[in-house]
Amino acid sequence: MCGIFGVRGHDDAVGLTKLGLFSLQHRGQESAGIVAVENGAARGVRSMGLVSDMPLLQLEALRGTLAIGHTRYSTAGSSSIENAQPVLVSSRGGHIALAHNGNLTNAGELRADLEESGSIFASSMDSEVIVHRMARSNAPLPEEKLVDALRDVEGAYSLLISMADTLLAARDPRGWRPLVLGRLNGAPVFASETCALDIVGATFEREVEPGEIIAVDANGERSLFPFERRELKRCVFEHVYFARPDSRIFGGSVDRARRALGRQLARECPVPGADLVFSVPDSSNSAAIGFAEESGVPYELALIRNHYVGRTFIQPSQASRIAKVRLKFSAVREVLDGKRVVMVDDSIVRGTTTRALVSLVRGAGASEVHMRVSSAPVTGPCYYGIDTPSRDELIAATHNQEEIRDSLGVDSLGYLTLDGMLESVPSGPDGFCHACFSGDYPTAPPTDPNKLRFGCGC
Ligand code: AMP
Repeated sequence: MCGIFGVRGHDDAVGLTKLGLFSLQHRGQESAGIVAVENGAARGVRSMGLVSDMPLLQLEALRGTLAIGHTRYSTAGSSSIENAQPVLVSSRGGHIALAHNGNLTNAGELRADLEESGSIFASSMDSEVIVHRMARSNAPLPEEKLVDALRDVEGAYSLLISMADTLLAARDPRGWRPLVLGRLNGAPVFASETCALDIVGATFEREVEPGEIIAVDANGERSLFPFERRELKRCVFEHVYFARPDSRIFGGSVDRARRALGRQLARECPVPGADLVFSVPDSSNSAAIGFAEESGVPYELALIRNHYVGRTFIQPSQASRIAKVRLKFSAVREVLDGKRVVMVDDSIVRGTTTRALVSLVRGAGASEVHMRVSSAPVTGPCYYGIDTPSRDELIAATHNQEEIRDSLGVDSLGYLTLDGMLESVPSGPDGFCHACFSGDYPTAPPTDPNKLRFGCGC
């Protein structure tokens, strides 16, 4: 997964992009980058780590009224500076810089075709095929080159691209990943989530529509819908886990979605006689509050998260993942001692987090631990941009509910049903991709999923 941000026609385009990326840091912590364009000439800075780790001196040297930026989240295998974005190349039509959120499911085939006819790739990212295809197009306008480039592309993309003096924004016809358009002093501002518009003071205007390409240049803004309409497949996991609760995505508030998920969870899987409910901070805070509101069980802060420890999810070995969970969370004995508790998390993937937290919570004196999950069981990998491991690592793909309960060491376990989950999100239940929960994949899976994971853009 990744965060993207872009603006055209503002004197402080670079400063705004840096701020916007800070707000999108939760979408990717592996690398960050900004490309700025001044009079058609582009320069970029990319570095590993957080936005705050970007080299200040180089950032200060960036100038321009057009800028795009990217925060990247990928699998461990492809963590390298070559794969940081925005990708920046020069072509016969001028520079092309590209920031991508999503995964292309046929990137392997497209790349093989390009290599067959002589292309040389500088990274292992799926996103690079779009740049190559744009550079090859003979169409006169940047947006027409992008149409040529995207014509046979399958999968998920929200894109921000600069070519010469034009800023392009695009969203795939199924609308997998969010992308919004805001306005600041007349300048268009694009971002993965509205929280990045808020931080720069831009007003939300609308979503970039699924299948839409927007071109912004000195002549104004043009909107195109060049591709065949497809059934909407917005990623439900954005509401469950990924997006920030202060954002509005897919036409609805993430906070409201998570609270509704929590309320539905309390209706579907109540815990009679529980003393308190708490969240696994931060992504499940709103769902746990929803559970408390619906059930009347008091909401407590029982787990404290250390914000200075990095991601737990993608650690090379299971042992280091467990150690990192313990570094990241601590339990409040005064809240938990002698209590029958409900622990709410937004999802269980491998089960590592829950297992480590249950022993922590029991160690702090909880007498019963009832696990409640504000999504359905994750039973399949995502090929569209969320980093879920392969099927055999997913606890719900290989165990039944009683086996999972036993393996996690909880007194009871309750997941939301798929229907309950889809009915709780704004503008649900239709128009969402839920492949990782239901196995209902909207595209053919990639021919070699491992290659895709290794080479994925986000
Ligand atoms: P696991 O420990 O493997 O069961 O992962 C579940 C935990 O990771 C939950 O606390 C989720 O909030 C969080 N989570 C779920 N999906 C992801 C993801 N794609 N990247 C990072 N964290 C995730």
